[in-house]
Amino acid sequence: MANPRCANGNARRKLARRLRAEGRGCWICRAFGRPDEIDYSLPAGDPGAFEIDELVPVSKGGDPLDYANVDAAHRRCNQWRGNKSVAAVLGIASGEAMAMDGLPQPW
Ligand SMILES: [Zn+2]
Repeated sequence: MANPRCANGNARRKLARRLRAEGRGCWICRAFGRPDEIDYSLPAGDPGAFEIDELVPVSKGGDPLDYANVDAAHRRCNQWRGNKSVAAVLGIASGEAMAMDGLPQPW
């Protein structure tokens, strides 16, 4: 008896292992120009812990088991992102960079 939930769980764990083995950094932090290092030893649920992030969210038809559709993210970044598209995240990130460019310098 095939149990699709179980099969998906295995496939997700495999994807997680692959990203972890690559030592992937957080793509959202990278977009914002922040240090992207993920401490893979943090327990699940920690804001800094590794999570698999679907680039095209499952709610928008993305495949959570496709290696090409996933990247690594911190839990807190993943939660901040929610259902925003990759383009929206990159737009916010570049807008933030521009806003910071426009700020008066402190010296
Ligand atoms: Zn991050």
